[in-house]
Amino acid sequence: MTLLYIVLAAIMTACGATSGSTAGETSQADTVAAAGMSAFDANGAYEMTRQQCDFGPRVPGTSAHARCAEWLMSTLQASCDTVILQTGTVQTATVGSLGIKNIIGVINPDASQRLLLLAHWDTRPWADNDPDEANHSKPVMGANDGASGVGVLLQLAKQVKEAGITLGVDILLVDAEDLGENDNEDSWGLGTQYWAAHPHVAGYKPLFGILLDMVGSGDATFTREYYSTQYAKGFVDLVWKHAVGTHFINSPGGAVTDDHIFINRAGIPCVDIIDMRADADSGFCPEWHTVNDTMSGISASTLGEVGQTLLNVIAALQQ
Ligand SMILES: [Zn+2]
Repeated sequence: MTLLYIVLAAIMTACGATSGSTAGETSQADTVAAAGMSAFDANGAYEMTRQQCDFGPRVPGTSAHARCAEWLMSTLQASCDTVILQTGTVQTATVGSLGIKNIIGVINPDASQRLLLLAHWDTRPWADNDPDEANHSKPVMGANDGASGVGVLLQLAKQVKEAGITLGVDILLVDAEDLGENDNEDSWGLGTQYWAAHPHVAGYKPLFGILLDMVGSGDATFTREYYSTQYAKGFVDLVWKHAVGTHFINSPGGAVTDDHIFINRAGIPCVDIIDMRADADSGFCPEWHTVNDTMSGISASTLGEVGQTLLNVIAALQQ
């Protein structure tokens, strides 16, 4: 993903925020228990994140990418009713025509009330934000930028299935998010753009969607992303109302070109939970698009807060 309008975001933060207020923790444990779900297993999500990194950078076209796709399929098959492998070809702005793999895990396929949860599983081929220019041609490991969101969703799928809820949940792992170039919005989120044009179910219409991106840093700040509030404010309110811990900040954040843009454009309201840093030039954590985006920057505690927040939202939708 890439950041847009950081200046606008700074202005918004200055004049619109209820600064620094964090989301409350009241009664979420009760809500989750009422829905029959156990507390989110943060260590399980950490392990799912690590296992993706063990394949190496998941750059489209590489064997690590192909092997990780197989592992994602089999991991989802253990916890979903149906798993769909969607293959297609996209035109990138950077590496020409490219074959992609979107992977969709479906829980309770017959339920009419559905929640879409998504994250990108590919990693960027170039660490082009690295302070050392010699690293710009090296791939990003993507422990945070890729694996963290997927890790939370894989663990979540497991727990949701075990709890036997009735809500339909769709886990969409999209490919080819991170091959974009600056100042070219449509060069990002290519797997999502493909899925939006070819949904896995004709006329697919969930209640809303939640995108996870860079949800693993110990210093993460999840502010209310600009486009999410433009397209899906009521659902942003819902997510932040049920958020737990110290990383969700109930204040306006920057505007990010990310997969949620294309979901929203397809008519599905979609919220982006993404770590934004208002004080950084890039708008993101220091490891973003550098060779330092490795497991050493991943906090099980942060993954746990995000996963628990999603469980709380699911429990609320169950009621
Ligand atoms: Zn990225």
